[in-house]
Amino acid sequence: MKQADRDALISGEVASAFVDARLIDGIADEPVDNGFVRVREGRIAETGPMSAYRKSGGNERVVDLGGQTLLPGLIDCHVHCVYSGFRSLEEIDRCPVETAAINGVVNAGLMLDAGYTTVRDVGTIGNVAVAVRDAIAAGKVRGPRVIASGQIIGPTSGMIDTLPSHWSTSSGLGVCVDGTQAIVKEVRRQIKNGVDNIKLGASGVEVGRYAYSWMTTLSAEEITAAVGEAHRWGRTVAIHCQSFDAAKFALRAGADTIEHGTRLDDEALALFAKSRTALVPTLSTLFSVLELGETLNLMPKQREEMAVNKDHWLSAVARARELNIPIAAGSDIGNRYPHGRNAREIEFLVRAGLSPIEALKATTGTAARILGKQGTIGALTPGAYADLLVVDANPLQDVCVLGDRERIRLVMLEGRAVGGREVAPSHGPQSLAPFPIRLWQPREPVAR
Ligand SMILES: [Zn+2]
Repeated sequence: MKQADRDALISGEVASAFVDARLIDGIADEPVDNGFVRVREGRIAETGPMSAYRKSGGNERVVDLGGQTLLPGLIDCHVHCVYSGFRSLEEIDRCPVETAAINGVVNAGLMLDAGYTTVRDVGTIGNVAVAVRDAIAAGKVRGPRVIASGQIIGPTSGMIDTLPSHWSTSSGLGVCVDGTQAIVKEVRRQIKNGVDNIKLGASGVEVGRYAYSWMTTLSAEEITAAVGEAHRWGRTVAIHCQSFDAAKFALRAGADTIEHGTRLDDEALALFAKSRTALVPTLSTLFSVLELGETLNLMPKQREEMAVNKDHWLSAVARARELNIPIAAGSDIGNRYPHGRNAREIEFLVRAGLSPIEALKATTGTAARILGKQGTIGALTPGAYADLLVVDANPLQDVCVLGDRERIRLVMLEGRAVGGREVAPSHGPQSLAPFPIRLWQPREPVAR
């Protein structure tokens, strides 16, 4: 790329057109083999096959991509910005909030460099995800757009309870509440703190101390109360469900997303198919423990439980796919696989039976839809933010190329180059200054 083009893309001040590109638009099932995308004032202005391309004149920068792939910036629907190589929930809970905030800032930059332009954080220490979201939006630090949650809400003895019972009832990553009144109060407290999304822990988890992943820990009444309250305030709800009943309680309550969805029986799948809820399978959670559990000396409960859960999990994804239940990519990484390796989830979705284009849609168009941001992000359509990713390979032939930093040529956020080999060739991404996100409104309630 010419230096003048590079400077113009980094500044984002002038209009640009990317021509001669393979377009994967995040929505269609087929790519456009030779197409263009035109960017004006942070948004996509026009797109189509090269046969429809006309020069615009003026000072528009035309960047010839020479057949490289252009797709929407990727979306990860399940991250925890504060994760940083922790080996247990106890270790997460013992991380001071100050360290957690620094982790959050560093990890946000890593995800942006990996081509992720929007992430949904589904559980944090203190209120770090909101602070990271606002610092990025204000242009103080580099990172993707963040849809922020507070601490994970769960019951005493549930997934987030790591403490002996003679200690306090509040831990780091989670907050223990019991009963419908207490859960409603916690939802309201988090809304006051500025969250976009509420995260509930409705079942145990492999890494949990007291509850197994097949145990249902929140009652149907508690889940219904929390979802109803969050929705009244225009917030979405993501629910950790690994047990059969947790998924059903969450679906009947109208949750926006089921996280993990490890166990889905016929009844759950039937409820799912007629709901507006989406599944975020987080297969990186499963495969990272299976791949690295022994090497990292993870606790036996976690490894043994994951081995039991594997078949349930993969069959849940396969059956959800057959029933056309929306599946969105969420990696849940940061502990076994580091941040920046989020695209492993795309690889695992393919391993679980999705076609490459289905896995890419799960990471772009479908992810945007389930976050209530359809037409704004995750698609190469006019009017959407110009969040773009250029890769010098064809991910439809091998989705693993998306996880290869050498292949990431350009990452754009709202029409400005913020990462990729083309714009940070010698000094690394840190040479790119952060900038305020102008078009996105944090805390914009989801229209329901
Ligand atoms: Zn998680």
